[in-house]
Amino acid sequence: MSEAKHFVPTLSASIARIAFDTPLDRLFDYRTVDACPDDIGRRVEAPFGTRTLIGVLLELADATAVPLENLKSLHAIDRSTPPLPADLLALARFFAGYYHHSLGAVLAMMLPPALRRAATPAKPAEALAYRLTETGRAQAEQIPKGHVARKTLAEKFLRGEGTRTEVLRADLTPRDKSVLRDWLKQAWVEPVTPSHADVQTDVMPALTDEQAFAVAAIRAAAHAFSALLLHGVTGSGKTEVYLRLVEDSLARGQQVLVLVPEIHLTPQLIERFARRFPGRKLVGLHSNLAAGERRNAWLDALEGRADIVLGTRLAVFTPLPRLGLIIVDEEHDSAYKQMEGMRYSARDVAVWRAHERKVPVLLGSATPALESWRNAREGRYTLLSLSKRAHSQAVLPKVRLIDSRTDRPRQGLTTALLSGLEQRLQRGEQSLIFINRRGYAPTLLCNGCGYVFPCTRCSAHLVLHRNQSGYRLVCHHCGLIARPPEACPECGNLDLRPAGQGTQRVEETLAEHFPAARILRIDRDTAARKGAFAAMREQVEAREVDILVGTQIVAKGHDFPHLTLVGVIGADQALISPDFRASERLFAQLMQVAGRAGRAQHPGEVLIQTAYPRHPLYQSVMRHDYPGFAETALRERRGADFPPYVSQALLRAEAREEADALGFLLAARDAGLTLKTGILLFDPVAALMARIANHHRMQLLVQANARQRLQQFLGQWLPLLQALPGKGVKWSLDVDPMDY
Ligand code: ADP
Ligand code: ZN
Repeated sequence: MSEAKHFVPTLSASIARIAFDTPLDRLFDYRTVDACPDDIGRRVEAPFGTRTLIGVLLELADATAVPLENLKSLHAIDRSTPPLPADLLALARFFAGYYHHSLGAVLAMMLPPALRRAATPAKPAEALAYRLTETGRAQAEQIPKGHVARKTLAEKFLRGEGTRTEVLRADLTPRDKSVLRDWLKQAWVEPVTPSHADVQTDVMPALTDEQAFAVAAIRAAAHAFSALLLHGVTGSGKTEVYLRLVEDSLARGQQVLVLVPEIHLTPQLIERFARRFPGRKLVGLHSNLAAGERRNAWLDALEGRADIVLGTRLAVFTPLPRLGLIIVDEEHDSAYKQMEGMRYSARDVAVWRAHERKVPVLLGSATPALESWRNAREGRYTLLSLSKRAHSQAVLPKVRLIDSRTDRPRQGLTTALLSGLEQRLQRGEQSLIFINRRGYAPTLLCNGCGYVFPCTRCSAHLVLHRNQSGYRLVCHHCGLIARPPEACPECGNLDLRPAGQGTQRVEETLAEHFPAARILRIDRDTAARKGAFAAMREQVEAREVDILVGTQIVAKGHDFPHLTLVGVIGADQALISPDFRASERLFAQLMQVAGRAGRAQHPGEVLIQTAYPRHPLYQSVMRHDYPGFAETALRERRGADFPPYVSQALLRAEAREEADALGFLLAARDAGLTLKTGILLFDPVAALMARIANHHRMQLLVQANARQRLQQFLGQWLPLLQALPGKGVKWSLDVDPMDY
């Protein structure tokens, strides 16, 4: 290609440089007649090969190295939506550089899917809440008994008095929603911005001393960048601190970005925001929105109509021209890490973004990520602590460790736990059994030869599940389903037994022990249907449930005031995990699930069944001592040269043939060694899940003492990797990996 500049004779800038969603990390030049500096950051439609693509205009120029006869013209510039603001373009550049992706691909990821394609007509967004119209009220009162679906929804609307006539979308089941669609057409209901649906909770409590201190400290930092870590035990009133700061920002005319790990697990948080700021526009942003809804929410933010954007990790890329504050709730949660495709940590991106925008970022958690804790200890983040529960009567639950070597569990349950449950049933209080394994039993075992059924496609055991039609063996990694055989394929023995406990089996055992108890299981299988989670929460709140059995999804952010006992089974598993982060996750889960007990006036109790009651991790849980746990864990990490004391990147390779993946990684390693940077390159090894759906997964760990040096190395290494043959190999680079 000629290096000479070709000048195009027009009056305004004549060359537009466009970023497209391709792995090629470069801009593409086009002829344009009317592009001006205002168009930087706008979406354009342009011919690309034989296709038409949407790209983002990033630069204007008078000259190009492309020969004139090869230079194509832009089809169109989208001026109906505002351009991506400069700070978002800067964020994209940082992101592309740090995570080593092409700028065009990063920009495409930042756009809502509907705007990655050519224009489509807008659809109205779903509202956050609905209320009956005059007609609707009259009609709703007269729905006959037999019409169950309509009657149920009518009752939801009519339950309250005065202002309590609106229903939040989070409270609607799928059945409600289908009725609602009809009612919207008939103008029986209308969308509203949620207001004081519950006047009681709208009362602003007087802050506790600790809350007041935290609020004052963050206020003092409001006009510049600062990263603040709000460490508060469950129920200490972190949300109230958020609300006060949001109020400040809104009063200054600013927008606020609130990130949550999983939107459907946090309806109570959304409601509290909606109720506290009834006149403000609150939009949700997450991947479960329909394309049109997501685009509209994004445009509301970009065009400045939205005051509060509350969303999951992808919301960290929302354009916010008046951004004044970023809050990351449950900042330790692994849901902030995108684990596939373009991997990134939304928490880290949030901190970088706050820095760039010179605004404060508040990270809240009862069990901060060890990375964040270390940042606070070393002065990079400001630490603010809430050590007591906010309600004057609410005390932290008492944690007891039940030694399962002396109190031998039968069907997974110790006598101590059973009698605890019995007590709660007698007192009419609720209990929760936490077991982080769904299905009936983790394995099906041959009692003759010890054979355990493997997945034929993955390096994992099949999990036994049970439904109305009987037992099935299911692979939790590739979805394979098999019927359990009559006899062991190895020795022919007919005595095949479920080994261990899953949520279904615990549910069954509890039903045998307590035939009168109303038991509800909540795990990914029962919560799969949309709206199922909200329906379950309602049941628990209405006290139609005595015992909840659930995985970690019940542990998150829920406030069940009548729950006074939490039983934990099967936790020891995590202590023997080869993943060095397993204990950090276990500690967070235990603290979180323990936090569900005794939220209001009722004191709570937590019983943990374990064969290692002296283990320091459990001892810290018993004392509710996160700092103690963190100090020990960080000391171990430092001793073992693990993050956060070193920076890592993981080169992952996947192939049908193990040799192909290995060959690629060995070549990658050799290429890295030629750079002579002194970076630590480990030997390629199999991933912890070595095979999924017949694809072999291998990885190469790269490690450095300083982030900067690692980044420098990656920048030099990546072009070499792209030049490797790597036939049949899918590879990707994961900077700051969280799973191995
Ligand atoms: P966290 O988010 O730290 O788990 P929440 O913000 O949900 O805690 O607060 C726990 C409970 O305490 C809630 O019911 C909340 O309404 C209440 N609460 C928060 N702050 C106060 C306060 N200053 N006075 C009284 N109650 C409070
Ligand atoms: Zn499988």
